[in-house]
Amino acid sequence: MAIEYPSLPWSDNALEPYISANTIDFHYGKHHKAYVDKLTAAIEGTPLAEKTLEDIIKETAGDSAKAGIFNNAAQSWNHAFFWNSLNPGGGGEPVGELKDKIVQAFGGLDKFKEDFAGKAATLFGSGWTWLAASGGGLEIVQKSNAGNPLTEGKVPLITLDVWEHAYYLDYQNRRPDFIKAFLDHLVNWDFAAENLAKG
Ligand code: MN
Repeated sequence: MAIEYPSLPWSDNALEPYISANTIDFHYGKHHKAYVDKLTAAIEGTPLAEKTLEDIIKETAGDSAKAGIFNNAAQSWNHAFFWNSLNPGGGGEPVGELKDKIVQAFGGLDKFKEDFAGKAATLFGSGWTWLAASGGGLEIVQKSNAGNPLTEGKVPLITLDVWEHAYYLDYQNRRPDFIKAFLDHLVNWDFAAENLAKG
């Protein structure tokens, strides 16, 4: 199956002032595209070329001989998921089952934000911070490099890219300010609720 390089769900300046069009143009236009192009080239003519992106991720996870394929596959998936985790006019409060599960797991939305921000800020080096569903509850999952909770059988609900390329043009070394902007103004709770329902 062709590896998809999906269109953005909004225009490149739609997340300003929290994420600039310049950041999106590099992040989506260069970084995300490069992961898709490298994966496409790496699997061409192999049995993996017939698989879905999710199956490629699950089949190559933990296989050191296929680390390059795993990294480019997971980065392709993670970025597509990340764009949908962001919404102009996002932030606000989750509702319904998602809200109930956040209260149950973290004690409330403010406590969730505090926990998520702490984990995203302290993730050493490059990686992703996820809200995921697992065993009927919710948890925050820190993953280095291209890591993704799918490989542990968990259901990703939203993610935040904390690689420097995600924020450096706008925030330089101030990762905590980028995390706060995500949680207060961009996080797409509707997308999280859809993923929880599909779970
Ligand atoms: Mn990225």
